Order: sequence, then C-alpha cells, then structure tokens
Amino acid sequence: MGAGLAGTLLAIDLARRGHRVTIHERRPDPRKSRASAGRSINLALANRGIHALERAGLMERIRPTLIPMAGRMLHDEEGRLQLVPYGHKPHEVISSVSRSGLNELLMDAAEATGRVSIRFGQACCGVDFTRRKVLLRSGEDAEIRNVPYEIVLGTDGSASAVRAAILERTGGRLDEEPLGHGYKELSIPSAPGGRFQMEEHALHIWPRGDYMLIALPNSDGSFTATLFLPNRGPDSFEALKDASAVLRLFERRFADALALMPGLVEDFLENPTGHLETIRCRPWYFEDHALVLGDAAHAIVPFHGQGMNTAFEDCDALVDLLEKKDRSWEHIFSAFESLRRPDADAIAAMSLENYMEMRSTVREPAFQLKKEISFRLEERHPRRFIARYSMVMFHRTPFAEARRRGAIQREILDALAANATSLDQVDFDLADRLIGERLPEEVPAADA
Ligand SMILES: Cc1cc2nc3c(=O)[nH]c(=O)nc-3n(C[C@H](O)[C@H](O)[C@H](O)COP(=O)(O)OP(=O)(O)OC[C@H]3O[C@@H](n4cnc5c(N)ncnc54)[C@H](O)[C@@H]3O)c2cc1C
Repeated sequence: MGAGLAGTLLAIDLARRGHRVTIHERRPDPRKSRASAGRSINLALANRGIHALERAGLMERIRPTLIPMAGRMLHDEEGRLQLVPYGHKPHEVISSVSRSGLNELLMDAAEATGRVSIRFGQACCGVDFTRRKVLLRSGEDAEIRNVPYEIVLGTDGSASAVRAAILERTGGRLDEEPLGHGYKELSIPSAPGGRFQMEEHALHIWPRGDYMLIALPNSDGSFTATLFLPNRGPDSFEALKDASAVLRLFERRFADALALMPGLVEDFLENPTGHLETIRCRPWYFEDHALVLGDAAHAIVPFHGQGMNTAFEDCDALVDLLEKKDRSWEHIFSAFESLRRPDADAIAAMSLENYMEMRSTVREPAFQLKKEISFRLEERHPRRFIARYSMVMFHRTPFAEARRRGAIQREILDALAANATSLDQVDFDLADRLIGERLPEEVPAADA
C-alpha cells in the first residue's frame, strides 16, 4: 500500500527477488496528472539512502540529478555568510534530490521490472485480516472493494491505514508526539539564465534561535526554502495572518532571503502549513499477514534529513532478512521489528535534537570549535572517534550505536573544549587518553 519513496523501492527489491507486487496508491499517477507541477520540493539524500538505491541498481540514473551540498551556509541577521562543512573528506557531502523526480523514477523502474503493477487512485481504508482482504476505495463516494492479498506491506506514510488496521487487530499502541512547530515551503527562483542566486553546493540556514529558514538547491537554479516556526506565540504561524505580518517577519529576521523571494507573500498564503510530529507505534506487523515500514512505522521530524534515508534503509534490512532462506513471513517480520525498532527510536531522538542544533547551537563559537576538534580526533582515531553527524549521514553505523557513541563523544568534546577557545589550545594527550578509556572498541564496519 503506497507508491511513495519506500513503496516503490521495496517493490523493485521484491521484484528482483522474483516476487509479483501490486501497489495501490491513493494519489493519481503524478507522471500523467502533474498535479504538483510548479512546486519543486527537494530532500537531502545521504549514504544510507544511496546504498539502498545502489543495491537496487538505480544510482547511475539518479546521480546526474543530484546536487552535492558540502556544508551548512549560515546566514546571520546582517546577511553575513559562513560555510560550516558537514565532513572533512571530499566525499562527505549530502545531496539535494527532487522528491517528485525521484519518486517518478522509482515508479518507472518498478514497472520496468515487469513484475510490479501500480494502481493509482486506490486508497486503502482498512484490512480484513480474517478474510485476508484489503479494503480499497477509488474516491470519496466510491464503494469499498475487497481485494485478496497474500502479504500486505504498508508503505502508506505517516497516516498509514495499514498501521491503523494492525494496531486495531493487535490492541497495539500508537504514540503521536507533535513538535509544536510547523513548516511552510517557499521558493527562491533562479536568476536570469537559470543561474543560482546563492552558493549552490550548500544547504542554506538562517538560524534564528526559536525558529529557522532553510533552503536546498534545485537543478533548475532555484532553491526550495522551508520556514520552520512555532505554531503559536509571537513569531509563529498563528501570528502570521496576513501579507504584512509575513513581510514584517522577513524584513526583521530574514532580510537577505527576502531580497531573493519576489513571490514570498503569494507562496506563504497559498501553500499549506505542514504539521510535524514523531510517530512511534507497536507492533509493526500482524502474524504472517502484514508489516509496516518507512514513515508508516516511524515518522520523524525532518531535521536530520533522514526520514527517506531511513525508509530506504528499512527496505535494505527487509531484503537482507529475505535472503536468509527457510524463514516464515512472521519470523521475518518479527526479526525486522526487533532489528529496526532501536534504530528508528534513535534516529527519531537525534532528529529532534538536531532541530536545536540547526536553529540555534550551530551559531555558537563553541559548536564550531567542537566540530573542528571532532574532525581532528577522527584523523587521530579513524575507527574509534567519528563525529555523530558523520556516523548518521556518511556511514551506515546503526543509528542506536551512533547515538550511544555520540553521547560519549559529546562528553569528551565538552571536556576538551572547556578550557580552549581555539584548536591549538586543545589538550590532545588528554583526548587520546579519554578515547582509549571510553571508546575502546571500533565503530562497527559499514556492512556489519
Ligand atoms: C518538510 C520535510 C522535509 C523532509 N526532508 C527530508 C530530507 O531532507 N531527507 C530525508 O531523508 N527525509 C526527509 N523528509 C522525510 C521524508 O519525506 C519521509 O520520511 C519519506 O517520504 C518517507 O517515505 P515513505 O515512502 O515511508 O512515505 P511517503 O513518501 O509519505 O509515501 C507514502 C505514499 O503512500 C500513499 N498513501 C498514503 N495513504 C494511503 C492509503 N490509505 N492508501 C494508499 N496509498 C496511500 C501516499 O500518497 C504516498 O504516495 C522530510 C519530510 C518533511 C515533511
């Protein structure tokens, strides 16, 4: 259920293993209707997602569409710029990719296997586990049809109908944690001739303490900007009721961005305000009938740019389990949940933590010094000390392990930065001793 990012990649993976897959997708075919034409929305693709796409044989087609981003370009209130690199090696970049472009490419690739058929305009509205049928509706007023299934895989996103059916049948638990902040997608158009109006190889951030604006490049020279704001309070979505309130906020806090956004007011008033929450649920499967994965199992806030990457890593993990022969579906689903739940919980927590880093901490000199110290420590202890951000984005260290090591590393960095204002004042003998004592074992290899 659901031909989004996870559903289409998983269908390709399953088809390559000989399975026949039918995907029921609520939306019309975006390749025909172009319903979202005019709004380009992009996502940051990182190592985990790339690995899964590579394994499915798709990266050669996707790579030319990517725009590498080497770091965060910080915009202060006076319009001064500072690039804070993500990593310290040339390949340590993340890439901006078009959501619709990637989804459509995955749809094409799924259908090209000859084993996947995508039925559009079919919304799942329940699962009858007793009769092994999914309930589908092709429009608000249309009758519900019962369609038999062998296995149902719920890749129907954060409001998953498959998840609801599993939880109802098992008496499971759903925990929805709203962030209290929402988002609005805005646009920075290209300059004449399709030129970028800002540095293209960076993720731009306007960190403003309680909130922020970010912008990622698109291949047509434009940027998609996203404003993250509290839902209520002085500078909030609730307070931005009309054009003049929007302009006042941008004049006051985002003046250099405003100069590049001629359509700001129109975008702001026309585009919906997105809701942000973390979703945790239990269980993820029902017997040998059904499993949820991707956002349907664990929707997270977008501040680590890992929702899609994690959903793709889910597909990878399921395929790994399928490769172990002679297991029942129930055994596979149960193993999947045991394996992935700790990592889903860890990336959910790290994504929430990263909001504070992006909107606030990133501006502090101590943050930047600690980043420099971590890169130096990584050079000295390449298998023991790897910045947490790098473990998440550039490695495939399990998220739970990245979070555990990250907490120890933070204490080491706090101790080293306590008496230093620059790299040459850092006591690296102390660093070596602390790492030896507290991080004795190596970071698990990527394929562990
Ligand atoms: C503002 C924002 C920025 C983000 N930025 C990033 C980023 O930079 N990097 C990153 O990795 N992630 C990012 N994410 C997260 C990412 O978008 C999701 O994690 C990802 O889309 C999850 O993929 P999915 O296939 O599980 O769900 P989706 O992509 O949501 O796909 C679900 C599909 O199921 C369909 N569907 C829904 N309900 C039904 C139903 N009842 N019946 C049939 N079909 C149904 C939907 O139409 C959709 O096609 C961001 C999210 C947001 C909100």
